[in-house]
Amino acid sequence: MSLPRRWQRHLFFGFTKTLSLSKNKYLLTKKEKFAALIAHFEEHMPVAETELHFGSPYELLVAVILSAQCTDKRVNQITPQFFKHFPDPETLSVASHDAVYEQVKSCSYPNNKARNLIGMAQTLLNEFNGIVPDSVEALQKMPGVGRKTANVIASVVYNKPAMAVDTHVFRVSERIGLTTNAKNPLDSEKQLVKYLPEAIIPKAHHWLILHGRYVCKARKPDCENCGITPLCNYFRKQYKTKATTKS
Ligand code: SF4
Repeated sequence: MSLPRRWQRHLFFGFTKTLSLSKNKYLLTKKEKFAALIAHFEEHMPVAETELHFGSPYELLVAVILSAQCTDKRVNQITPQFFKHFPDPETLSVASHDAVYEQVKSCSYPNNKARNLIGMAQTLLNEFNGIVPDSVEALQKMPGVGRKTANVIASVVYNKPAMAVDTHVFRVSERIGLTTNAKNPLDSEKQLVKYLPEAIIPKAHHWLILHGRYVCKARKPDCENCGITPLCNYFRKQYKTKATTKS
């Protein structure tokens, strides 16, 4: 895989021009890198939202629990029927494991998910009066809700500055160099929120997920069609461009 050197230079200088950076300025600080990334996505992906279908906080909670180790496409195939059977936490909380399993069996880990969904509905009713809480800590009290799921709910439903780090966000952030040697999703989250303005965090989560899902794919990143090559550490290493980044 190689790109003509002239194209590499064109991409880099074209991009730096749009960022009002000097032609000779090859070194981007982390702060500049984040600013450039935000500018790029604000222009090219002004609307970035979850691809999960939902009509209420309860429905999003169910969908996000189902989406662990499963594609959003599959979850969106499951949830319409699921919500016909269990339209609210009340119906789900008294459902049998078999009845819930039947609805989620085409998803990964259906046994665990069925158990967690019933437990989530029971906790939601017993501890939160049936209202999905807005704090990441409270959300994590429910079965099947880890930090990533809690951050998604807090961010999507309540527009809170909670950065959910899933496999796409983790991978893309490391490749670009937004994070450096992040040890785990929590470490990645901490590094990302250090540089992202709070108001941008809910949208940045979707930018990175969608970029990872459709462009910077796990097995084969589509660098030829990526608009942020000049910012990307992975790209620079692959194509041996002159640009370097201060971390
Ligand atoms: S240049 Fe390649 S590796 Fe870097 S973000 Fe784009 S697709 Fe991913």
